[in-house]
Amino acid sequence: MPETKDFPKMRDIYGSLVFDKREMKQRLPKDIYENLMAAMEGRQKLDSGIADTVALAMKDWAISNGATHWAHWFHPLNEQTAEKHTAFTTSDENGFPLDIFRGKDLMQSEPDASSFPSGGTRSTFEARGYSAWDPTSPAFIVKSAKGGTLCIPSVFLAYDGSPLDLKTFLLRATQAVETRAMKTLKLFGNRGVRYVRATVGGEQEFFLLDRPRAQQRPDIRFCGRTLLGARPPRDQKMEDHYFGAIPTRVLAYMEDVQRDLARLGVNLATRHNEASRCQFEFAPIFTEANLACDQNQLIMETMRKLARQHELRLLFHEKPFMGMNGSGKHVNFSLEDSEGRNLLKPSTNHRKNVVFLSFLSSFILGVSEYPGLLQASVSTPGNMYRLGGNEAPPYIISVYLGEAVASMVRAIEEGGDDEGAHAKKTLDLGLPKLPDIVAFDSDRNRTSPLAFTGNKFEFRAPGSSQAIAVPTTALCAVWAAGLERFNKLLEARINKGEDPMDAAIKTIREVSKANRNIRFEGDSYSEEWLKEAKKRGIIKAHTIPEGIDLLMEPKTVKMLEHLGIFKKKELEAFYTIRLESFVKNIDIEMAVMGDMIWEGILPCISKQILLEKGSRDMLDGLKIQGVEKWSSHIVMLAKAKLDLMQKTRELAELKESLAKKDTRSHAEGIVTKAVPLMEDIRKIADSVEIYLSAEYKPYPNYRNLLSLSA
Ligand code: ADP
Ligand code: MG
Repeated sequence: MPETKDFPKMRDIYGSLVFDKREMKQRLPKDIYENLMAAMEGRQKLDSGIADTVALAMKDWAISNGATHWAHWFHPLNEQTAEKHTAFTTSDENGFPLDIFRGKDLMQSEPDASSFPSGGTRSTFEARGYSAWDPTSPAFIVKSAKGGTLCIPSVFLAYDGSPLDLKTFLLRATQAVETRAMKTLKLFGNRGVRYVRATVGGEQEFFLLDRPRAQQRPDIRFCGRTLLGARPPRDQKMEDHYFGAIPTRVLAYMEDVQRDLARLGVNLATRHNEASRCQFEFAPIFTEANLACDQNQLIMETMRKLARQHELRLLFHEKPFMGMNGSGKHVNFSLEDSEGRNLLKPSTNHRKNVVFLSFLSSFILGVSEYPGLLQASVSTPGNMYRLGGNEAPPYIISVYLGEAVASMVRAIEEGGDDEGAHAKKTLDLGLPKLPDIVAFDSDRNRTSPLAFTGNKFEFRAPGSSQAIAVPTTALCAVWAAGLERFNKLLEARINKGEDPMDAAIKTIREVSKANRNIRFEGDSYSEEWLKEAKKRGIIKAHTIPEGIDLLMEPKTVKMLEHLGIFKKKELEAFYTIRLESFVKNIDIEMAVMGDMIWEGILPCISKQILLEKGSRDMLDGLKIQGVEKWSSHIVMLAKAKLDLMQKTRELAELKESLAKKDTRSHAEGIVTKAVPLMEDIRKIADSVEIYLSAEYKPYPNYRNLLSLSA
């Protein structure tokens, strides 16, 4: 049942189900606590000698908080989360109950790996895999009706060491960017910094529908989106919804979600209505990248669980309703040093601003060199319907800086041969007002897939159902590559005896010239941009399968291998999984669409024809003017029915013939044949929908679906 009685204060419950630093400090001997901290901050490997003590403390804490089971919690490559529960309580040799959770249970577990996708890296007979504790993300308890499970964030590997999860790649990528960012800071003479962390905040958009009504539609039940359904014309203007009052029912749900997540240490700072009717958004406070990705999975799991309790149907799909805004998951990201300084924060201090511009231009350089990886990271089935549609960025990667920062970069670019003096002057002059200008000006362009928003970048292309580990891995990788190149150029100049500031300005100029092709300050939704992007030659892929292909671009493979993020074999496996997931997803849509037409729409049209014909026949002989129009209406319904029968048969045949092909050709067939055919079918079905009696209608229509009153 939804939480009703107890309304604890957020501050009292915050983090209460996380085995966090407070708990560790209280429950562990000092030396062990410090050893563990060092491992958690990634400063040293975890000493397995302390595992037993940590496990004991963790077990006592978990049991005292009602947990009955423990599980290694990980993200398999299919973007879900997985866990295998083991009870704490067993029995000793006398048959008496005994709670057991040993160091080795904490460190490593052996879930059967055979049911998780491996993309062919592992033969099926060799089903074993193991999960290993990732101490950089804290353990937590997921409560259930009668107890709870201690979840231990873990990586998941096959026995040959090849990753079967997303976290391993993410951790490698964050490490790649963090070490290179450290190097940049060192080149600027900064010796005090102990580490740099990638920071991420993922804004989660979603739809909520009345569950009993939504579940009457097979498309919503099985695909999480509508495959049929006409939009009622008078609902076109929905601006009133955005930032309007959140419906009471939704607010009650959101409050429960926020409270449960607060206990898990996830702080959902904002909640509001989104652009579409029944669309909403949650944004957590950003944190270290690895934890942010774990938290986003927890947010989605918690939201799903509570939606059921509130009789709501939650949709994470990128495009649940035709002609309406889709849902994205904006990934905000930056780098932060051990002193808590945001490396993407512009500054009125000249020196700090040059450091800022160095990080900024290195990132853009990485993007301009490897836009394909970013595009691949958001090439998912749901995004096929979203990107380039209403209020979603186009399927082209570009970077938007905002006038203030763009003009600083321009000034440096145009610095010419006066050793950057002109640039220095412009920078200094523009500075006093900078923070205001940046915040104001960068907020306006919502059309860019990658926008600088004052003190961070925002990647707007990721889809709402995605695990953000994938785009985050891509972002860290391209930034690491950009920084590496930047560092090399900067270091060479410094080694020649140049002052680091002058050397940096020259390097910024050099890389800015190189990355100009990817920068665009205008309206990314416009036709002009499409033309311009074509001219610049930066359109890398037109379809989702082409986007997935970009994972295997030789240049990208080389970069990812070089940075130690993916081995070629691992990338091939990941590629296969992405392609298979695309195919499976749309295959289900094809099947469900066919079923809905044959089970629901076609019989309904027949009933309508009978109804029309019966009443029309009664008019025979009455000589009413215009009665023939009635006949042509019946003919129109009959034609639609015939068309639907024919086209859905074609769809079924197409589905069968595609299934015989290899995955890549299957995917190609989906894009070139199945999707257009499904669009045709939908058009016909939707065109007759308004002429069908409410009594006969097999499924709730858009108007009913998009109303949250019970
Ligand atoms: P905006 O006004 O640009 O939407 P918000 O302050 O509302 O920015 O933040 C949007 C999201 O970005 C939030 O999840 C927030 O925690 C996150 N965010 C803010 N600063 C950073 C940062 N330095 N690194 C990563 N994410 C950040
Ligand atoms: Mg938003």
